[in-house]
Amino acid sequence: MNKAIFLDRDGVLNHEIYDYICRVEDFKILEYQIPVLKRLYDEGFLLIVITNQGGIALKRYSEQELAIMHQMLRNAFVAKGADIAGFYYCPHHPTVGGECKCRKPASGMILDAIDMYDIDPAQSVMIGDKPRDVESANGAGVKGILIEPDEQISYDKVKEVLSLEFKVGSF
Ligand SMILES: [Mg+2]
Ligand SMILES: [Zn+2]
Repeated sequence: MNKAIFLDRDGVLNHEIYDYICRVEDFKILEYQIPVLKRLYDEGFLLIVITNQGGIALKRYSEQELAIMHQMLRNAFVAKGADIAGFYYCPHHPTVGGECKCRKPASGMILDAIDMYDIDPAQSVMIGDKPRDVESANGAGVKGILIEPDEQISYDKVKEVLSLEFKVGSF
């Protein structure tokens, strides 16, 4: 089985602007996160992005624009010798067509990734800047780490949380 670091996107991998990131020019990658994640990548963790993108349903931006941002993000990791194995995004919004199973705090995206990549949830962790990221992870049996928006990810914290028994709630 594989192990993974699940990553929220906005406020974790790119600068949080407290609104939908609709324009490619507003997509600012937090380069300082890459070395820590590369270290985990080198240890065999798959890096998988799990992101709510309700702006798609609200027609604030297109899936094509989103794909450009995700390609930029992937390129930034590849340039540093790492890679992002997968991008999961929820394009839905509850005000357009109702609830879905993928929008965080639901666990649909993480469960899909676990299935697709044969991931052991007990050896994996989710890093996000909102309680709903941790909730989404916990619902899939994955431990969560809650950081502040744009806060640098701590390698030691990740390893510490990975060593703990699973329990619901952030560490
Ligand atoms: Mg976020
Ligand atoms: Zn959805």
